[in-house]
Amino acid sequence: MDAEWEASITDIAQLLQAIEFSAYKHRAQKRKDADASPYINHPIAVASLLATVGGVTDLDVLIAAVLHDTLEDTETSPAELEERFGPEVRALVEEMTDDKRLPKTERKRLQIEHAPGNSAKAKLIKLADKIANVRDVTLTPPSDWSLERRVEYLDWTRDVTAGCRGVNPGLEICYDEALAGGWLKLDPKIENEPLNRVSTG
Ligand code: NDP
Ligand code: ZN
Repeated sequence: MDAEWEASITDIAQLLQAIEFSAYKHRAQKRKDADASPYINHPIAVASLLATVGGVTDLDVLIAAVLHDTLEDTETSPAELEERFGPEVRALVEEMTDDKRLPKTERKRLQIEHAPGNSAKAKLIKLADKIANVRDVTLTPPSDWSLERRVEYLDWTRDVTAGCRGVNPGLEICYDEALAGGWLKLDPKIENEPLNRVSTG
């Protein structure tokens, strides 16, 4: 990146540039909800949660949130991210990226195992990502998912976010509320005593 040009653009301009880049990379993709929402809605929601709920102002974190699925789900390379957004953003997005060569169940197990060892900044993005996905699974789920699968997904996010605690109380409370709301809506068994389930985590 040209140094003079880099110095001249503001934080807001850099964030907008990341949104534009991510929207382009995800341009042909949809989320899995019944309406097949534009994919970019999700990375924007994650960055928005960080800024509005978490009070996060760290530009690398907000930019990495916008880009967090580009390595996993698009043709983007780590070198491309580093060239455009710097080494810290590249490293954060890499921390958010599963190894797609592994089977799905193994990838999900590794997310739980790796979360405690993630950097504090990556933990912030993971928390916001899981808040967004818990809300989606609760309110606008993939149309072919059974109730059981949706509850299973909520339970898995609880195990991942257990390793992301201690970095941002606002995001943690928001996650806990989203999860409790999801369980209440999806798992009628716990309707009377939701705290029983929270205490099993
Ligand atoms: P997927 O990983 O295939 O899908 C969930 C992911 O899709 C989310 O983490 C999110 O990832 C993305 N996503 C896109 N749109 C939505 C949306 N509207 N709502 C929520 N997430 C969305 O599914 P699983 O997490 O279930 O992983 C597969 C696992 O499920 C396997 O381990 C398999 O064994 C199990 N399985 C269970 C079944 C059951 O009935 N219980 C049936 C079949 C499989 P991102 O933020 O990265 O975009
Ligand atoms: Zn995501």
